Amino acid sequence: MTNDAPPHEDDWTTAGFSTRAIHAGQEPDPLTGAVVPPIYATSTYKQDGVGGLRGGYEYSRSANPTRTALESALAAAEGGAAGFAFASGLAAEDTLLRAVLRPGDHVVVPNDAYGGTYRLIARVFGPWGIDHTAVDLSDPDAVLAAIEPGRTKVVWVETPTNPLLGIADISALSAHARSVGALLVVDNTFATPYLQQPLALGADVVVHSTTKYVGGHSDVVGGALVVGDGAMLPVGLEGPLADAVRFHQNASGAVAGPFDAWLTLRGLKTLAVRMDRHCANAAAIADFLEGHDAVTSVIYPGLATHPDHEVAAKQMSGFGGMISFRTGSEASALAVCAATRVFTLAESLGGVESLIEHPHKMTHGSVAGTDLEVPDDLVRLSVGIEDVADLIADLTAALAVGRAA
Ligand SMILES: *Cc1c(COP(=O)(O)O)cnc(C)c1O
Repeated sequence: MTNDAPPHEDDWTTAGFSTRAIHAGQEPDPLTGAVVPPIYATSTYKQDGVGGLRGGYEYSRSANPTRTALESALAAAEGGAAGFAFASGLAAEDTLLRAVLRPGDHVVVPNDAYGGTYRLIARVFGPWGIDHTAVDLSDPDAVLAAIEPGRTKVVWVETPTNPLLGIADISALSAHARSVGALLVVDNTFATPYLQQPLALGADVVVHSTTKYVGGHSDVVGGALVVGDGAMLPVGLEGPLADAVRFHQNASGAVAGPFDAWLTLRGLKTLAVRMDRHCANAAAIADFLEGHDAVTSVIYPGLATHPDHEVAAKQMSGFGGMISFRTGSEASALAVCAATRVFTLAESLGGVESLIEHPHKMTHGSVAGTDLEVPDDLVRLSVGIEDVADLIADLTAALAVGRAA
Protein backbone atom coordinates (compact mmCIF):
# COMPACT_ATOMS: atom_id res chain seq x y z
CA MET A 1 0.00 0.00 0.00
CA THR A 2 1.17 3.53 -0.63
CA ASN A 3 1.95 6.06 2.09
CA ASP A 4 -0.46 8.58 0.64
CA ALA A 5 -2.17 10.57 3.36
CA PRO A 6 -5.83 9.65 3.56
CA PRO A 7 -8.01 12.28 1.91
CA HIS A 8 -10.03 14.80 3.84
CA GLU A 9 -13.35 16.05 2.58
CA ASP A 10 -13.88 19.75 2.73
CA ASP A 11 -11.62 22.37 1.31
CA TRP A 12 -11.21 25.15 3.84
CA THR A 13 -8.46 27.00 1.95
CA THR A 14 -10.58 30.08 1.34
CA ALA A 15 -11.71 30.42 4.99
CA GLY A 16 -10.12 32.74 7.54
CA PHE A 17 -7.37 31.63 9.88
CA SER A 18 -9.46 30.72 12.91
CA THR A 19 -12.05 28.89 10.82
CA ARG A 20 -9.30 26.82 9.24
CA ALA A 21 -7.67 26.07 12.60
CA ILE A 22 -11.00 24.91 14.04
CA HIS A 23 -12.46 23.03 11.07
CA ALA A 24 -9.84 21.90 8.55
CA GLY A 25 -9.35 18.15 8.80
CA GLN A 26 -11.88 18.02 11.62
CA GLU A 27 -15.18 16.99 10.07
CA PRO A 28 -17.64 15.58 12.62
CA ASP A 29 -17.19 11.81 12.91
CA PRO A 30 -19.38 10.22 10.20
CA LEU A 31 -20.43 7.33 12.46
CA THR A 32 -21.45 9.19 15.62
CA GLY A 33 -21.41 12.89 14.78
CA ALA A 34 -18.72 13.47 17.44
CA VAL A 35 -17.72 17.10 16.92
CA VAL A 36 -14.14 16.51 18.05
CA PRO A 37 -11.96 14.00 16.19
CA PRO A 38 -11.58 10.98 18.49
CA ILE A 39 -8.27 9.73 19.85
CA TYR A 40 -7.76 6.68 17.66
CA ALA A 41 -5.74 4.58 20.10
CA THR A 42 -5.08 1.80 17.66
CA SER A 43 -1.92 0.50 16.06
CA THR A 44 -3.61 -1.39 13.22
CA TYR A 45 -6.76 -1.49 11.09
CA LYS A 46 -8.98 -4.31 9.83
CA GLN A 47 -8.64 -4.85 6.11
CA ASP A 48 -11.68 -5.75 4.01
CA GLY A 49 -9.82 -8.51 2.21
CA VAL A 50 -6.09 -8.30 1.59
CA GLY A 51 -5.21 -4.72 0.66
CA GLY A 52 -8.79 -3.54 1.24
CA LEU A 53 -7.94 -0.55 3.41
CA ARG A 54 -10.63 1.71 4.82
CA GLY A 55 -9.69 5.31 4.09
CA GLY A 56 -6.07 4.36 3.45
CA TYR A 57 -5.37 3.29 7.04
CA GLU A 58 -3.12 0.30 7.44
CA TYR A 59 -0.76 0.78 10.41
CA SER A 60 -0.47 3.78 12.75
CA ARG A 61 3.17 4.62 12.07
CA SER A 62 2.13 5.21 8.45
CA ALA A 63 -1.12 7.00 9.27
CA ASN A 64 -3.57 7.40 12.15
CA PRO A 65 -6.84 9.35 11.85
CA THR A 66 -6.16 11.60 14.86
CA ARG A 67 -2.76 12.47 13.43
CA THR A 68 -4.28 12.98 9.97
CA ALA A 69 -6.71 15.50 11.47
CA LEU A 70 -3.82 17.43 13.03
CA GLU A 71 -1.72 17.25 9.86
CA SER A 72 -4.58 18.57 7.72
CA ALA A 73 -5.34 21.36 10.19
CA LEU A 74 -1.68 22.42 10.37
CA ALA A 75 -1.37 22.41 6.57
CA ALA A 76 -4.49 24.59 6.35
CA ALA A 77 -3.22 26.95 9.07
CA GLU A 78 0.08 27.50 7.21
CA GLY A 79 -1.52 27.64 3.76
CA GLY A 80 0.55 24.60 2.73
CA ALA A 81 -0.09 21.53 0.61
CA ALA A 82 0.79 18.82 3.14
CA GLY A 83 1.33 18.63 6.90
CA PHE A 84 3.32 16.05 8.86
CA ALA A 85 3.24 15.63 12.65
CA PHE A 86 6.15 14.29 14.68
CA ALA A 87 7.01 13.32 18.24
CA SER A 88 8.94 16.57 18.79
CA GLY A 89 10.16 19.63 16.93
CA LEU A 90 13.61 18.10 16.65
CA ALA A 91 12.16 14.86 15.26
CA ALA A 92 10.48 16.97 12.55
CA GLU A 93 13.77 18.74 11.80
CA ASP A 94 15.72 15.48 11.73
CA THR A 95 13.27 13.92 9.27
CA LEU A 96 13.34 16.97 7.00
CA LEU A 97 17.14 17.14 6.93
CA ARG A 98 17.44 13.41 6.17
CA ALA A 99 14.96 13.81 3.34
CA VAL A 100 16.78 16.67 1.62
CA LEU A 101 20.52 16.33 2.42
CA ARG A 102 23.23 13.93 1.25
CA PRO A 103 26.87 13.65 2.39
CA GLY A 104 28.93 16.57 1.10
CA ASP A 105 26.02 19.02 1.26
CA HIS A 106 26.13 22.37 3.04
CA VAL A 107 23.55 24.19 5.19
CA VAL A 108 23.35 27.88 6.09
CA VAL A 109 22.15 28.26 9.69
CA PRO A 110 21.29 31.31 11.79
CA ASN A 111 24.06 32.41 14.16
CA ASP A 112 21.50 32.45 16.95
CA ALA A 113 19.53 29.37 15.95
CA TYR A 114 17.57 27.42 18.53
CA GLY A 115 20.32 25.54 20.37
CA GLY A 116 18.84 22.11 19.64
CA THR A 117 18.65 22.88 15.92
CA TYR A 118 22.29 23.93 15.86
CA ARG A 119 23.32 20.85 17.85
CA LEU A 120 21.39 18.59 15.44
CA ILE A 121 23.01 20.11 12.35
CA ALA A 122 26.53 20.46 13.79
CA ARG A 123 26.84 17.37 15.97
CA VAL A 124 24.48 14.79 14.45
CA PHE A 125 24.57 15.68 10.74
CA GLY A 126 28.17 16.95 10.88
CA PRO A 127 29.65 13.45 11.38
CA TRP A 128 27.52 12.21 8.44
CA GLY A 129 29.27 14.65 6.11
CA ILE A 130 27.04 17.72 6.33
CA ASP A 131 28.84 21.02 6.62
CA HIS A 132 27.34 24.29 7.86
CA THR A 133 28.00 28.02 8.07
CA ALA A 134 26.43 30.14 10.81
CA VAL A 135 25.45 33.67 9.71
CA ASP A 136 23.50 36.68 10.89
CA LEU A 137 20.24 36.22 8.99
CA SER A 138 19.23 39.83 9.45
CA ASP A 139 21.90 40.60 6.83
CA PRO A 140 20.74 39.10 3.47
CA ASP A 141 24.11 39.95 1.87
CA ALA A 142 25.91 37.88 4.50
CA VAL A 143 23.56 35.00 3.74
CA LEU A 144 24.27 35.33 0.02
CA ALA A 145 28.00 35.30 0.76
CA ALA A 146 27.66 32.13 2.86
CA ILE A 147 25.75 30.25 0.14
CA GLU A 148 27.90 27.87 -1.92
CA PRO A 149 26.03 27.37 -5.21
CA GLY A 150 25.50 23.68 -5.94
CA ARG A 151 26.58 22.59 -2.46
CA THR A 152 24.22 24.60 -0.25
CA LYS A 153 20.95 22.68 -0.16
CA VAL A 154 19.21 24.35 2.78
CA VAL A 155 18.99 27.89 4.09
CA TRP A 156 17.57 27.52 7.59
CA VAL A 157 15.65 30.52 8.86
CA GLU A 158 14.32 31.36 12.27
CA THR A 159 12.45 34.61 12.64
CA PRO A 160 12.12 35.89 15.31
CA THR A 161 15.20 34.12 16.68
CA ASN A 162 15.70 32.75 20.15
CA PRO A 163 16.60 34.37 22.50
CA LEU A 164 17.85 37.54 20.76
CA LEU A 165 14.65 38.00 18.71
CA GLY A 166 16.50 38.84 15.51
CA ILE A 167 14.35 39.28 12.41
CA ALA A 168 15.12 37.82 8.98
CA ASP A 169 13.47 39.03 5.77
CA ILE A 170 11.84 35.82 4.53
CA SER A 171 11.13 36.94 0.97
CA ALA A 172 14.65 38.34 0.47
CA LEU A 173 16.22 35.11 1.73
CA SER A 174 13.83 33.02 -0.32
CA ALA A 175 15.07 34.72 -3.49
CA HIS A 176 18.68 33.95 -2.51
CA ALA A 177 17.92 30.28 -1.77
CA ARG A 178 15.88 29.88 -4.93
CA SER A 179 18.66 31.32 -7.11
CA VAL A 180 20.90 28.34 -6.25
CA GLY A 181 18.24 25.60 -6.02
CA ALA A 182 18.45 25.43 -2.22
CA LEU A 183 15.42 25.05 0.03
CA LEU A 184 14.29 27.86 2.28
CA VAL A 185 13.20 26.31 5.57
CA VAL A 186 11.48 28.56 8.12
CA ASP A 187 11.14 27.58 11.76
CA ASN A 188 7.86 29.38 12.51
CA THR A 189 7.67 28.31 16.16
CA PHE A 190 7.96 31.80 17.66
CA ALA A 191 5.67 33.67 15.27
CA THR A 192 3.10 30.89 14.66
CA PRO A 193 1.04 30.70 11.46
CA TYR A 194 -1.39 33.20 12.95
CA LEU A 195 1.20 36.00 12.93
CA GLN A 196 3.42 34.94 10.00
CA GLN A 197 2.83 32.88 6.85
CA PRO A 198 6.28 31.90 5.56
CA LEU A 199 5.03 29.80 2.63
CA ALA A 200 3.25 32.83 1.17
CA LEU A 201 6.52 34.76 1.55
CA GLY A 202 8.46 32.19 -0.49
CA ALA A 203 9.51 29.48 1.98
CA ASP A 204 9.47 25.88 0.72
CA VAL A 205 8.72 24.29 4.06
CA VAL A 206 7.77 25.41 7.56
CA VAL A 207 9.00 23.74 10.75
CA HIS A 208 7.28 23.87 14.13
CA SER A 209 7.92 22.86 17.63
CA THR A 210 4.21 22.47 18.37
CA THR A 211 5.34 22.06 21.98
CA LYS A 212 5.27 25.86 22.14
CA TYR A 213 2.47 28.15 20.93
CA VAL A 214 0.54 25.69 18.77
CA GLY A 215 0.03 23.29 21.69
CA GLY A 216 -0.01 26.34 23.90
CA HIS A 217 -0.63 24.78 27.31
CA SER A 218 2.79 23.33 28.24
CA ASP A 219 1.30 19.84 28.35
CA VAL A 220 2.57 18.11 25.20
CA VAL A 221 5.79 17.81 23.17
CA GLY A 222 5.42 17.69 19.39
CA GLY A 223 6.68 18.93 16.05
CA ALA A 224 5.46 19.48 12.53
CA LEU A 225 6.48 20.15 8.95
CA VAL A 226 4.24 21.89 6.43
CA VAL A 227 5.35 21.69 2.81
CA GLY A 228 4.36 24.41 0.37
CA ASP A 229 2.36 23.72 -2.76
CA GLY A 230 4.64 22.59 -5.58
CA ALA A 231 7.83 22.53 -3.46
CA MET A 232 10.50 20.28 -4.99
CA LEU A 233 13.64 18.69 -3.54
CA PRO A 234 16.82 20.81 -3.74
CA VAL A 235 19.18 20.82 -6.69
CA GLY A 236 20.74 17.37 -7.25
CA LEU A 237 17.66 15.44 -6.09
CA GLU A 238 14.49 14.77 -8.07
CA GLY A 239 10.86 14.90 -7.10
CA PRO A 240 8.30 16.60 -4.89
CA LEU A 241 9.46 17.56 -1.40
CA ALA A 242 6.20 16.38 0.19
CA ASP A 243 6.70 12.85 -1.20
CA ALA A 244 10.22 12.68 0.23
CA VAL A 245 9.04 13.91 3.63
CA ARG A 246 6.14 11.44 3.63
CA PHE A 247 8.53 8.59 2.79
CA HIS A 248 10.98 9.57 5.53
CA GLN A 249 8.26 10.18 8.14
CA ASN A 250 7.16 6.57 7.67
CA ALA A 251 10.64 5.13 7.10
CA SER A 252 12.18 6.72 10.22
CA GLY A 253 8.97 6.63 12.22
CA ALA A 254 9.33 9.56 14.65
CA VAL A 255 5.59 10.24 14.42
CA ALA A 256 3.23 11.96 16.86
CA GLY A 257 1.13 9.49 18.82
CA PRO A 258 -2.67 9.85 18.76
CA PHE A 259 -2.96 11.27 22.30
CA ASP A 260 -0.32 13.91 21.60
CA ALA A 261 -1.85 14.72 18.20
CA TRP A 262 -5.23 15.21 19.88
CA LEU A 263 -3.87 17.59 22.53
CA THR A 264 -1.98 19.58 19.91
CA LEU A 265 -5.10 19.83 17.76
CA ARG A 266 -7.03 21.05 20.78
CA GLY A 267 -4.41 23.76 21.28
CA LEU A 268 -4.42 24.82 17.63
CA LYS A 269 -8.14 25.69 17.78
CA THR A 270 -7.52 28.60 20.19
CA LEU A 271 -4.20 29.75 18.72
CA ALA A 272 -5.58 33.01 17.31
CA VAL A 273 -7.24 34.23 20.52
CA ARG A 274 -4.25 33.21 22.62
CA MET A 275 -1.81 34.97 20.30
CA ASP A 276 -3.84 38.17 20.40
CA ARG A 277 -3.50 38.21 24.20
CA HIS A 278 0.17 37.14 24.13
CA CYS A 279 0.89 40.04 21.75
CA ALA A 280 -1.07 42.61 23.76
CA ASN A 281 0.50 41.58 27.07
CA ALA A 282 4.00 41.50 25.57
CA ALA A 283 3.60 44.96 24.01
CA ALA A 284 2.58 46.42 27.39
CA ILE A 285 5.46 44.69 29.18
CA ALA A 286 8.00 45.77 26.55
CA ASP A 287 6.91 49.39 27.05
CA PHE A 288 7.11 48.98 30.83
CA LEU A 289 10.63 47.50 30.63
CA GLU A 290 11.84 50.20 28.25
CA GLY A 291 10.96 52.80 30.84
CA HIS A 292 12.56 50.96 33.76
CA ASP A 293 15.92 52.19 35.09
CA ALA A 294 17.11 48.69 36.15
CA VAL A 295 16.86 47.50 32.54
CA THR A 296 19.69 48.45 30.16
CA SER A 297 18.01 47.28 26.94
CA VAL A 298 14.81 45.63 25.76
CA ILE A 299 14.58 43.42 22.68
CA TYR A 300 11.10 43.07 21.21
CA PRO A 301 10.31 43.19 17.47
CA GLY A 302 7.32 45.43 18.16
CA LEU A 303 9.47 48.22 19.59
CA ALA A 304 10.53 50.98 17.19
CA THR A 305 14.02 50.62 18.74
CA HIS A 306 14.36 47.05 17.36
CA PRO A 307 16.84 47.27 14.45
CA ASP A 308 14.55 45.25 12.15
CA HIS A 309 11.21 46.51 13.41
CA GLU A 310 10.20 47.49 9.86
CA VAL A 311 10.91 44.06 8.41
CA ALA A 312 8.95 42.49 11.28
CA ALA A 313 6.04 44.87 10.68
CA LYS A 314 6.07 43.99 6.96
CA GLN A 315 5.95 40.22 7.37
CA MET A 316 4.17 39.69 10.71
CA SER A 317 0.64 40.67 11.69
CA GLY A 318 1.69 40.91 15.37
CA PHE A 319 4.97 40.74 17.24
CA GLY A 320 4.46 37.73 19.46
CA GLY A 321 4.85 36.98 23.14
CA MET A 322 8.62 36.70 23.53
CA ILE A 323 10.71 39.50 25.06
CA SER A 324 14.37 39.56 26.05
CA PHE A 325 16.02 42.24 28.15
CA ARG A 326 19.39 42.97 29.74
CA THR A 327 20.05 44.08 33.28
CA GLY A 328 23.72 45.10 33.09
CA SER A 329 25.15 42.22 35.13
CA GLU A 330 24.81 38.46 35.41
CA ALA A 331 24.14 38.76 39.16
CA SER A 332 21.16 41.07 38.66
CA ALA A 333 19.78 38.92 35.80
CA LEU A 334 19.95 35.81 37.97
CA ALA A 335 18.37 37.67 40.90
CA VAL A 336 15.43 38.84 38.74
CA CYS A 337 14.89 35.29 37.46
CA ALA A 338 14.83 33.98 41.03
CA ALA A 339 12.47 36.64 42.36
CA THR A 340 9.34 36.46 40.21
CA ARG A 341 6.20 34.78 41.53
CA VAL A 342 3.74 34.91 38.63
CA PHE A 343 6.44 34.31 36.00
CA THR A 344 7.64 30.74 36.59
CA LEU A 345 11.37 30.04 36.30
CA ALA A 346 11.44 27.39 33.57
CA GLU A 347 12.69 26.56 30.08
CA SER A 348 10.36 26.30 27.10
CA LEU A 349 7.85 28.95 26.01
CA GLY A 350 4.56 29.58 24.31
CA GLY A 351 2.17 28.36 26.99
CA VAL A 352 -0.68 30.27 28.61
CA GLU A 353 1.43 30.78 31.75
CA SER A 354 4.27 33.31 31.83
CA LEU A 355 7.80 31.95 32.10
CA ILE A 356 11.15 33.59 32.84
CA GLU A 357 14.63 32.21 32.26
CA HIS A 358 18.33 32.99 32.04
CA PRO A 359 19.36 31.81 28.54
CA HIS A 360 23.12 31.86 29.21
CA LYS A 361 22.82 29.29 32.01
CA MET A 362 19.61 27.52 30.94
CA THR A 363 18.31 27.14 27.36
CA HIS A 364 21.55 28.23 25.74
CA GLY A 365 24.01 26.62 28.17
CA SER A 366 24.96 24.09 25.46
CA VAL A 367 26.20 26.84 23.10
CA ALA A 368 28.49 28.57 25.63
CA GLY A 369 31.89 29.11 24.03
CA THR A 370 30.52 28.90 20.43
CA ASP A 371 29.42 31.61 17.98
CA LEU A 372 25.95 31.19 19.42
CA GLU A 373 26.85 32.21 22.98
CA VAL A 374 24.40 34.75 24.47
CA PRO A 375 25.10 37.60 26.95
CA ASP A 376 25.12 36.59 30.62
CA ASP A 377 22.94 39.54 31.71
CA LEU A 378 20.11 38.53 29.37
CA VAL A 379 16.69 37.54 30.71
CA ARG A 380 14.06 35.95 28.45
CA LEU A 381 10.34 36.19 29.06
CA SER A 382 7.63 34.05 27.54
CA VAL A 383 4.72 36.35 28.26
CA GLY A 384 1.56 34.38 29.00
CA ILE A 385 -2.08 35.34 28.88
CA GLU A 386 -2.61 36.22 32.55
CA ASP A 387 -3.82 39.70 33.58
CA VAL A 388 -1.12 42.08 32.45
CA ALA A 389 -1.31 44.20 35.63
CA ASP A 390 -0.29 41.15 37.67
CA LEU A 391 2.61 40.46 35.31
CA ILE A 392 3.87 44.04 35.52
CA ALA A 393 3.55 44.09 39.32
CA ASP A 394 5.54 40.84 39.47
CA LEU A 395 8.32 42.25 37.26
CA THR A 396 8.37 45.51 39.23
CA ALA A 397 9.04 43.59 42.44
CA ALA A 398 11.62 41.28 40.83
CA LEU A 399 13.54 44.16 39.20
CA ALA A 400 13.82 45.83 42.62
CA VAL A 401 15.43 42.65 43.94
CA GLY A 402 17.69 42.54 40.85
CA ARG A 403 18.81 46.12 41.31
CA ALA A 404 19.92 45.35 44.88
CA ALA A 405 21.85 42.21 43.81
C1 LIG B 1 11.62 24.19 21.17
C2 LIG B 1 12.07 24.59 19.81
C3 LIG B 1 12.50 23.63 18.89
C4 LIG B 1 12.62 22.16 19.22
O1 LIG B 1 11.38 21.58 19.46
P1 LIG B 1 11.13 20.37 20.49
O2 LIG B 1 9.66 20.20 20.42
O3 LIG B 1 11.64 20.80 21.83
O4 LIG B 1 11.90 19.20 19.96
C5 LIG B 1 12.86 24.07 17.62
N1 LIG B 1 12.82 25.37 17.29
C6 LIG B 1 12.43 26.31 18.16
C7 LIG B 1 12.41 27.75 17.74
C8 LIG B 1 12.05 25.97 19.45
O5 LIG B 1 11.67 26.92 20.31
